[in-house]
Amino acid sequence: MEILDKLKKEELEELYYLLQQGHFEKIVRNKLEKFKNSNKVCPVCNTETKEDEGLTIIFGSPNMRQKATFDGVDCLEYFLTKLK
Ligand SMILES: [Zn+2]
Repeated sequence: MEILDKLKKEELEELYYLLQQGHFEKIVRNKLEKFKNSNKVCPVCNTETKEDEGLTIIFGSPNMRQKATFDGVDCLEYFLTKLK
């Protein structure tokens, strides 16, 4: 709901259109799939990672939490440098 408050009129209209056309569910599902995939692959070098083996960080604002798992400290360091 907080996100909706931040949208401009045109963006709300576009969202409304997507909802009416039934596209919204597909878009959200695709976004969720990307989250799942990003947890399985190091976002820096694309090496497959397991959550119990890699280095996992959770970042972002409280209502937009994101999780990333890195295969090594060097990739985590690179990611943090980019985040700055
Ligand atoms: Zn990596």
